[in-house]
Amino acid sequence: MKEERGICELVLMLTFLIGMSLPSPTLAGDPLKVTVSILPQKYFVEKIGGDRVEVSVMVLPGANPATYEPRPRQMVDLTNSKIYFSVGVPFETVWLDKFAHASPKMEIVPTQAGIEKIPMEPKHTHDDEDHPGGPASHSGGKDPHIWLSPPLVMLQARNILSALIKADPSGRADYEANYRNFAMELVELDLKIAALLSDGDTHRRFLVYHPAWGYFADAYRLLQIPVETEGKGPTPKALQRLIADARHNGIRAIFVQPQFSTKNAETIARAINGRVIEADPLALDWQANLLRVAEQFKSALK
Ligand SMILES: [Zn+2]
Repeated sequence: MKEERGICELVLMLTFLIGMSLPSPTLAGDPLKVTVSILPQKYFVEKIGGDRVEVSVMVLPGANPATYEPRPRQMVDLTNSKIYFSVGVPFETVWLDKFAHASPKMEIVPTQAGIEKIPMEPKHTHDDEDHPGGPASHSGGKDPHIWLSPPLVMLQARNILSALIKADPSGRADYEANYRNFAMELVELDLKIAALLSDGDTHRRFLVYHPAWGYFADAYRLLQIPVETEGKGPTPKALQRLIADARHNGIRAIFVQPQFSTKNAETIARAINGRVIEADPLALDWQANLLRVAEQFKSALK
C-alpha cells in the first residue's frame, strides 16, 4: 500500500517534470501545422516555411490525385492543421468541403489563385466508349497540372508566402527571406530548362500517356500529344491514329508516370519502335526531378 502510494507520487512528480520541460503549444518554437494536396506542394511550402512549418501531404506517394480518397487517420490529423493549401487537383472537388467540415478553424488557401488555366488537350472523340480509367479524371476541361511550370510555381509561392505570414505574423522576416531565395532558384531553374530545351525547332511533339506536362510544354515551347484524354484510355481506333501520327512525326519515345498503368504505353512504344520513359509529375524532390525530366525530354526530342 505504502509502496503503491510511493509509485503514484513518483508518477505525479515525473508528469510534473515532463510537463515543465515540454513547451506549451502556444510557444513560438512550435511549428505551424499545415496540409497540402500533393508532394510537390510540400516542397514549395517547406522552401518558404522552413523550420517554422510542419507539412502533411494528403495524396500519399504512388497514389493518383485524380481519384484519391483520404484515410480516416488523415481526416483526424487534419484537425491539427492551421492551413490547407489546395492546388486544384480533381480529388479536391469532392473533398475540400469535407475537410472544411472536419476542421472548421483551418484556413483553406487556393494556391492556384491568380493562375489562368489552359484547357486540356483537344477534346476526345470517343464519348460513347467505355472508360477503362474510371470516371474522367480532369473533367471541366481545364488542365490542373500547374505545379510543373517554374513560372507558375512562382505565383503559387507568392500565395503560399501571403498565407504563412497571415497565419504566423511573427515569422514574416523568415518567410520573406526564404521566399526570395526560392524565387531566385525558380528563375535559375527556368533558365536552365529553357537552355536545355532551346536547341531545335519549337513545338517539337512528344507523346505522353497522362497529359501532365501541358504547362511545361507551354513554358518551353514543346507540344504535348496525350494518349489518355480526360482520364480515359484510347480506343483501338484512336490508338491506331496515334501510332500513325507518331511514326509520321518521327516520335520515338512515350512518357509515362509511375501512378498509371503502362500497358498501352508499351504497345505504342513497340509500334513506333521507340521506348517508354518515366517522368514523375508528383515527385517530392521537385526541383531536381524537373531538371531530370527536362534532360529526358531533351534526349527524347533529339
Ligand atoms: Zn493529372
